[in-house]
Amino acid sequence: NSLSKRYSTHIERRITRTVMVGDVAIGSDYPVRVQSMINEDTMDVENAYLAIKRLHDVGCEIVRLTVPSLAHAKAVGDIKAKLLENNINTPLVADVHHNGMKIAMEVAKHVDKVRINPGLFVFEKSDPARTEYTDEEFETIKQTILKRFTPLVEVLKAENKALRIGVNHGSLSERMLFTYGDTPLGMTESAMEFVKICDELDFHNIIISMKASRAPVMMAAYRMIADRLDSEGYNYPLHLGVTEAGDGDYGRIKSTAGIGTLLAEGLGDTIRVSLTEAPEKEIPVCYSILQSLGLRKTMVEYISCPSCGRTLFNLEEVVDKVRTATSHLTGLDIAIMGCIVNGPGEMADADYGYVGKGKGTIALYRRKEEIKRVPEDEGVNALIQLIKDDGKWIDP
Ligand code: SF4
Repeated sequence: NSLSKRYSTHIERRITRTVMVGDVAIGSDYPVRVQSMINEDTMDVENAYLAIKRLHDVGCEIVRLTVPSLAHAKAVGDIKAKLLENNINTPLVADVHHNGMKIAMEVAKHVDKVRINPGLFVFEKSDPARTEYTDEEFETIKQTILKRFTPLVEVLKAENKALRIGVNHGSLSERMLFTYGDTPLGMTESAMEFVKICDELDFHNIIISMKASRAPVMMAAYRMIADRLDSEGYNYPLHLGVTEAGDGDYGRIKSTAGIGTLLAEGLGDTIRVSLTEAPEKEIPVCYSILQSLGLRKTMVEYISCPSCGRTLFNLEEVVDKVRTATSHLTGLDIAIMGCIVNGPGEMADADYGYVGKGKGTIALYRRKEEIKRVPEDEGVNALIQLIKDDGKWIDP
């Protein structure tokens, strides 16, 4: 059984309950959701609205914003109103830190999910000589958390909103650090403490994240929390991310290594790629990760060979032309191959193939069948015509 899972060509997701964040359902019965966070000041209602709109326009399904004060919490109400006036129903998530329970309770009215960081929830007095917490101290702080946290959970319950228990490797509480170390175990215990409090309060609209800036750390933490949750009967969805992944190619690769690896293991129900770039740049990366793993199909899948000495035309140029002409045709697989030396099988069962035949000629394929040969300079138009003849064309 474990071997058939290991050799499966289909990712089997960890079974979770469904948590609604606004109208967006999160969990294993639904596609893995894509989210991001704006970096505007939440008090700047107009620019925050525009930032959310930009994310919405490129397919971001959930948007997070930071809410450091009560005034910010009120501004979120104005942002939400403006979004609704413009028919943008993207669910909002408020990030609340540092003992901000009043803020969290105010903002819970305007957003669909509140994110708290267990590490920053109760300020734990730092004594430089301290190296451990006694059981008694540990318990006292837990009781303080319970007292402070309960009213927020009651508001979330009453408003039917969701909660993200968002643990960060870089901001574990001192108590957790001393007791369990700066480790995936410390992160897991940190999250479980809040999971259990919510359970005692009969609140289950929970999503959990375990972010770290190093991919191996976040991978270990997510695996550990998934095992703990499952073994203790909590089937909460997971939100995946590598924090502070950086920018450019490496930021994307690092995020893909961490998020993609876990998704391939069946973990993760929502994702965010955190780049040091405009937030809207994160969204195509998220969708590309999901598409490459076969978890969501939101764009044309292009299969093109790396080219080699046998390549019979300028492959990069042709791929670019084909992509420009067809990238709006979501759902199709199109292969562009320098030659057919290894047979149509190399095209991975693409719906259409564009293949070099030599002497300025290319062949067009419908799946494994060669349909026609045309001069190279007519190739892209002939491909479009073939897609049209098959009734699969839509105007851009
Ligand atoms: Fe080379 Fe042909 Fe393979 Fe492309 S498909 S890499 S041109 S052998």
